[in-house]
Amino acid sequence: MNPRLEAVQKAGKKTRRVPEADEIRHSVQFASRVFHIRLMEQTLPKKVFLNLSAAMVGKEKFDPQNSDLVAEAIKTWAMQHGATHYTHWFQPLTGAVAEKHDSFLSWNANGSVIEQFRGKDLLRGEPDASSFPSGGLRSTHAARGITMWDPSSPPFLWEGGDGLTLCIPTVYFSWKGEPLDQKIPLLRSDAKIQETSLRLLKMCGIPAERVFSTLGPEQEYFAIDRSLFLLRPDLMLGGRTVFGSPPAKGQELEDHYFGAVKDRILGFMREFEDAALRLGIPVKTRHNEVAPAQHEIAPLFERASLAVDHNLLLMELMRQIAIKHDLACLLHEKPFAAINGSGKHCNWSLATDTGLNLLDPQENSLAFLTILTAIIHAVHEHAGLLRASIASAGNDHRLGGSEAPPTIISIYLGESLERIVEQILTQKSESPQMLRLIDLGLAHIPHHEADPSDRNRTSFFAFTGNKFEFRAVGAEAHCAFPIMIINAIVSDSLALILDEIGDAIGTQKDLSSDKLFALSLPVLRKHLLRAKPILFSGNGYSLEWEKEAEQRGLPNIKRSFHALSQLLEKKTLRAFVGILTEKELHSRYEILLEQYAKSMNIEANLMIELFRTQILPAALLDQKNRAKALTSLSAVPIKADPHQIESLKTLSSLIGQAIAAIDEVEKVQRQTLDLGWEAKGRVFCEIAAPKMDQARALVDQLEKLVDNALWPLPKYRELLYLI
Ligand code: ADP
Ligand code: MG
Repeated sequence: MNPRLEAVQKAGKKTRRVPEADEIRHSVQFASRVFHIRLMEQTLPKKVFLNLSAAMVGKEKFDPQNSDLVAEAIKTWAMQHGATHYTHWFQPLTGAVAEKHDSFLSWNANGSVIEQFRGKDLLRGEPDASSFPSGGLRSTHAARGITMWDPSSPPFLWEGGDGLTLCIPTVYFSWKGEPLDQKIPLLRSDAKIQETSLRLLKMCGIPAERVFSTLGPEQEYFAIDRSLFLLRPDLMLGGRTVFGSPPAKGQELEDHYFGAVKDRILGFMREFEDAALRLGIPVKTRHNEVAPAQHEIAPLFERASLAVDHNLLLMELMRQIAIKHDLACLLHEKPFAAINGSGKHCNWSLATDTGLNLLDPQENSLAFLTILTAIIHAVHEHAGLLRASIASAGNDHRLGGSEAPPTIISIYLGESLERIVEQILTQKSESPQMLRLIDLGLAHIPHHEADPSDRNRTSFFAFTGNKFEFRAVGAEAHCAFPIMIINAIVSDSLALILDEIGDAIGTQKDLSSDKLFALSLPVLRKHLLRAKPILFSGNGYSLEWEKEAEQRGLPNIKRSFHALSQLLEKKTLRAFVGILTEKELHSRYEILLEQYAKSMNIEANLMIELFRTQILPAALLDQKNRAKALTSLSAVPIKADPHQIESLKTLSSLIGQAIAAIDEVEKVQRQTLDLGWEAKGRVFCEIAAPKMDQARALVDQLEKLVDNALWPLPKYRELLYLI
């Protein structure tokens, strides 16, 4: 039997993984694998604890003199749990995380072996940086990269290979101090938005010492049978199927969304959620998503930089624990054509240390309206940059289809906020009405207080009651990048608005809140009027919107490659002051280009190899069998029916066309060999991609014709429906 059919047969019989006797579920204790603040308080001298806890929230610098005591406490705790090694855990610009393990082993002065973890081991590491992307910031021979502990993210124990490793979250930079990771710019953007937000709060008389961005990333993913996954080199190496004809039943019945979760999948979800909870990741919501075999996991929101760390850890847990369940967890933005891709909707807001959510419309109207105006201004001004923040070869397959936001950037505010904006614009002073009671007319069900906004699934950036949901972020994205960009542009716009309000106030002192409101309103009105074209509450998937957006002058950058140069725009540089220098932004641009071109090249490789080594032989064999069947008719003797001959001709011609189309892909690919990254990216985007689409369409037609028993690659119906 062909390996595909064998795997299909087995996959259909698998049941939920039953834990072995020695892995009986321990009751899950939240953050039991984290050196969290309560442990710090219990194990550290008071003075050290106070310094560390202040450093954790950015109030003070961590004093290196305390590092030996902190390191000792962490080591003792880690070894009590059975850890033998430690690693600096960092986020280079590969999009993944990096680690290099060292054991606690060391010589003492007498030449015997001891277990040691010194303050300097905690604080600093020096991984060889030569193989990480730097976008030209560092030449290959200047390899020194430095990791430094980021006390705002607590150390944790990672379980793997039947043991535990102590992980120290760190930032990563070149020896000259240039950031080489995703975290430094994110932390800097947070500091910047804190500074501008505190200016606003002070002006409005709202007490707060700190402001930080918050993030709740909703992670979508697919879970499919692992033995079938292993028969798909494209999924294994590229994360998505480069061929695959849509199944007879897709998602059109909408019966998977929020449907009952299958037992085998639920077993997987529970296990990775338990592991996540131990790591202090507050996972909360799980459900089936729209496409067959697609699901979602959402945590409670947290401080953005911690939420980013947690999202990276969660994705890794999901990938690894899937293997135990004989599943493969697919985090790519678009593993399957013709059904929905996966997003990572980034819910973003701003919070104060006093527990205020600055995007909660009911908290304080001037502060809220000013931030809202700054956000609308920022998204309008930097629409192209926001498009670049979610640009990747993978996300190109997802955006713009009627499943994810279009490539046109717009903001959805919802009814209440739209009314308020309208009131400001039309200069009506009527006080804003936020709440609305809904009466269902059922005697036993209480009235419902309607939210200030409905939902709009088609919007790129949607207000959802007390936060914005950046829906265009792809499932595999490192969400530090888009969040850092939102923080940067909002902070820039807020500073501009505050400057103008400051000018309007001039030397006036001790203004009443009404007077302050009256002075600020014209500034807000001016900016809202200018940025108004970015507001759109209709159907973002419609063709009319595409036309209207063009009339409104909104950018519609369809392919990621064309969005990347937005990182080099003058206004981008201005928004990034204090976060990334021009040179550093340029290096990120280079890295993104390189990643784009490389991903496209891998997909082209996969298409060529899979077609020539698996699909073509199967198609030729089928052709041979059919030809034989026809010639055997003459022995009976029966004259072959012309339709039969026609169908063989169709097959044969399709095979010929597919061979030619794949040759074309290879030809274009070869042309890119000596080009720089920018030119390579352009060729892949503008010339190779359409050719790859053509080749795929032909191969997908072949799949519908060739004998099922010969087809080598697991088909969509098998990948999506067998569990
Ligand atoms: P949806 O109905 O949009 O799918 P979910 O419940 O799946 O909503 O996810 C909403 C996400 O938004 C959660 O991660 C939640 O914690 C997060 N969230 C809620 N409030 C805030 C906030 N103030 N800042 C950031 N994220 C938030
Ligand atoms: Mg959700």
